[in-house]
Amino acid sequence: MNVLLTGGTGYIGSHTAVVLLQSGYRVVLYDNLSNSSDAVLEKLAQITGQPIPFIKGDVRDTELLISTLAAHRIDAVVHFAGLKAVGESVEKPVDYYANNVQGTISLLQAMQSAQVKTLVFSSSATVYGEPQFLPLDESHPTSATNPYGRSKLHIEEMLKDVAASDPAWGIACLRYFNPVGAHESGLIGENPNGVPNNLMPYIAQVAAGQRAELSVFGADYPTADGTGVRDYIHVMDLAQGHAAALAFLSATIGWHAVNLGTGKGYSVLDMIQAVEKASGQRVPYKIVARRAGDVAACYADPKKAGEALNWRATRTLDDMCASTWRFQQSQRLSVMS
Ligand code: NAD
Ligand code: UDP
Repeated sequence: MNVLLTGGTGYIGSHTAVVLLQSGYRVVLYDNLSNSSDAVLEKLAQITGQPIPFIKGDVRDTELLISTLAAHRIDAVVHFAGLKAVGESVEKPVDYYANNVQGTISLLQAMQSAQVKTLVFSSSATVYGEPQFLPLDESHPTSATNPYGRSKLHIEEMLKDVAASDPAWGIACLRYFNPVGAHESGLIGENPNGVPNNLMPYIAQVAAGQRAELSVFGADYPTADGTGVRDYIHVMDLAQGHAAALAFLSATIGWHAVNLGTGKGYSVLDMIQAVEKASGQRVPYKIVARRAGDVAACYADPKKAGEALNWRATRTLDDMCASTWRFQQSQRLSVMS
């Protein structure tokens, strides 16, 4: 089976490429490199022992997508391509709707034209908005608190209409919780440009001495230690969730939303401690004001993924931190050499 990964050179796409190749899929990567580098292609070849076809292109280029789907005889698409920074989406909503919503419309047009009707979409737990109950299951009401989240919600709704219009479509919207960690080789991982927005890459840079201290956004939440609680999931578990979703769609039609999380929540202070343990380094921090828009706690009910996809996360918090640290160290060595 031939699978196109849009956004395939990005963080989650590159890890999923490894898992899909190792599960026997043929994989083609498609990315405009706006938030990744083609240097990842060499790392992927090193890990998998084979070169992976890559097309540099934008998902809004419908013609290029159509020719790519035909040339590589694509059977299914995993759609990672999109912009993902919440703060930036508030400042540049048009860019977010253009990339995420318009990009998905273009992809759907290309898929329709090429008669490819199997799609796995990178959605997010952000579509649940402010949690009304925990753990979050897929029946929790959806809402959006920023343009990024609204773009995911619009896309989910659009995909529901597409699946309802034609029974040949099989669509899985995977609602990711908080992906962290890296491939065990340390060759690929999350490498954000500039100051990281997310907790884990920030902590890793503090542990490595690249940043002086972490700002903990609020210690007065109604959680065990007062800091925010999230469902961190190892990116390799998440990648395996995509293989499970493709297997599921080979036998199922219609639209499906599935949480990919562990079901366990960890606080910011838990994460600091876990990285300190994995790295043997101190992570200095200071408590500052809450970050606007943050919720106290957010974690998944992963039951549906177990039942429908026969998938569950198996890696521990220590695995997440050890692999993050290994990647952090290998980055430093490659900068020095
Ligand atoms: P990433 O930025 O590392 O990967 C996204 C890739 O898409 C990048 O390589 C980028 O160059 C590419 N891209 C962006 N716009 C494009 C366009 N118009 N045409 C072609 N390529 C384009 O991000 P990631 O963390 O790997 O996230 C992948 C997907 O998962 C995104 O859709 C994101 O919204 C979603 N997601 C991520 C998280 C997370 O915390 N990382 C959580 C929930 C959902
Ligand atoms: N966080 C923090 N300092 C940072 C970045 C994040 O204290 O520099 C906290 C944030 O308030 C939240 C948790 O870490 O409670 C996870 O934040 P992240 O941005 O990684 O994920 P999200 O908020 O999107 O779930």
